Amino acid sequence: MNIHEYQAKELLRLYKVATPNGRVAQDAEDARMITKEYGGKSVVKAQIHAGGRGKGGGVKFASDPDKAAEIFKAMLGMNLVTKQTGAEGRKVHTVFISDPVDIDRELYLAFLVDRVTSRVTLMASTEGGVEIEEVAEKTPEKILKVTVDPALGLTGFQARQIAFGLGLQGDSFKKGVTFLLNLYRLFTEKDCSMVEVNPLVITKQGDVIALDAKIGFDDNGLFRHPDVMAMRDLNEEASEETEASKFNLNFIKLDGTIGCMVNGAGLAMGTMDIIKYHGGSPANFLDVGGGATEDAVKNAFRIILQDKAVKAVLVNIFGGIMRCDIVAGGIVKAAKEIGISVPVVVRLEGTNVEEGKQILADSGYNLIVANDLRDAAEKVVAAAK
Ligand code: ADP
Ligand code: MG
Repeated sequence: MNIHEYQAKELLRLYKVATPNGRVAQDAEDARMITKEYGGKSVVKAQIHAGGRGKGGGVKFASDPDKAAEIFKAMLGMNLVTKQTGAEGRKVHTVFISDPVDIDRELYLAFLVDRVTSRVTLMASTEGGVEIEEVAEKTPEKILKVTVDPALGLTGFQARQIAFGLGLQGDSFKKGVTFLLNLYRLFTEKDCSMVEVNPLVITKQGDVIALDAKIGFDDNGLFRHPDVMAMRDLNEEASEETEASKFNLNFIKLDGTIGCMVNGAGLAMGTMDIIKYHGGSPANFLDVGGGATEDAVKNAFRIILQDKAVKAVLVNIFGGIMRCDIVAGGIVKAAKEIGISVPVVVRLEGTNVEEGKQILADSGYNLIVANDLRDAAEKVVAAAK
């Protein structure tokens, strides 16, 4: 789960990690008042779960309180397109007003889980404010990394090593070290999967502060953090994913044209691979899990069909605990209740497969039955074209 910048900054404050003053404005008048409070100038920031807002017009400097109100009005409700949102963009539901800071240097900092070492890694760079992927590609020597030993946590030595590498001196050096140690505490105590501060700013006054913050959480740890769970913003999640989670189904949105209904994550991976192998591309996959009922299958089908990108559906079920006749029953129920507007290829194998196939054959609907995985992939790719 991800949260907004303003929420991330609330958590940072809780852990005594310095960030500029800032508040969410309720309306244009509020934006004006907050800007007055900050001495007449402010930075107006669109809150969406995607970065690159600066370049996309989602971060604007207001030179006086009236300007702040004006920018607020234009920003709220706008469709913000950035490098990270994709072409369709995101609607802005929340606007944050921040106290402007005198920036001397913009740096980069992130704690993340390194899958290669299976450990938390602290990554830092003097090249902040720009996209780190670009730095990694063009000037990889400018990225500093330390791997944290879980038994020791981030050590003072490691924090000093990074602060030194970032060129911090004197008072800023000390503040930088404290900043890192506190941020690491937040990362572990809140079960984060990523905390990114870009830019980390050294002000003209020598302060070290998080000007922007992005936090992602490990969903498996969320049950321990009701405070974090309360920060969930459903506006930012694909509506199908939210809908699927209501029925205990796992839906993942992708960018192709073939909707996939499968049982089990392994089969989902295999299904997507074979679709790609035959020249197609999955629009999504929906995992109905092990013990789904006919109704769950029906809902799964409805959710897949809601996805406008879907040109054909592949149902690929291996009946173990899940019985093929239940799946077939769910598909027929869905066809009856909501109608099926695109070609549907069904490949069933395993428990009660004959009964399942019979139900499909008797239904009178034009469902394309496939004999094996390759046959299914060929048929669905052809149908989607
Ligand atoms: P994003 O990463 O989505 O583009 P940021 O919050 O990093 O958004 O803002 C982009 C840029 O705007 C920053 O790199 C910084 O130069 C400037 N900026 C943002 N907040 C402030 C602030 N409070 N004071 C001064 N400059 C700011
Ligand atoms: Mg940023």
